[in-house]
Amino acid sequence: MSVLIGQGIDAHRFTAGRPLVIGGIRIEHEEGLAAHSDGDVLIHALCDALLGAAALGDIGQHFPDDDPQYSGIDSRILLRRVMQSLDERRLRVHNVDLTVVAQRPKLKPYMPAMTQVLAEDLGCPTGRVNLKATTTERMGFTGRGEGIAAFAVVLLTAPGDSG
Ligand code: MG
Repeated sequence: MSVLIGQGIDAHRFTAGRPLVIGGIRIEHEEGLAAHSDGDVLIHALCDALLGAAALGDIGQHFPDDDPQYSGIDSRILLRRVMQSLDERRLRVHNVDLTVVAQRPKLKPYMPAMTQVLAEDLGCPTGRVNLKATTTERMGFTGRGEGIAAFAVVLLTAPGDSG
């Protein structure tokens, strides 16, 4: 068995009139995130980390943001498609470590539900999904409340010595 590491980063701007969805969970907030999809910044970072570990490029190559079929799409569908690609290559998630950077809203109450949803889609126990949230002490675009960023690191296991 060998291991493959991947990292992913995403950021989206707040906009009025959209629901806020992070980690597959609807968050109570006055604004959502602008995006071609549902704007789930955490799942996008996670998808990029998974694709990166598998050497499969990035989320934009797989799900172009000018393709109408992805307009408003639930990002969990994208995550499950990424997992399908990994599954075809017999790649499994060992663990993931995720960080959401947001000045607001407070995400702590939603984190157990997010962890559950992500573990389900990743096909791993909840104990292998670590979720963190931080502010940037009011500095930068997240600190000013202009948007939310997310960072993901994943470790995959692969059969054999190498790809
Ligand atoms: Mg995105």
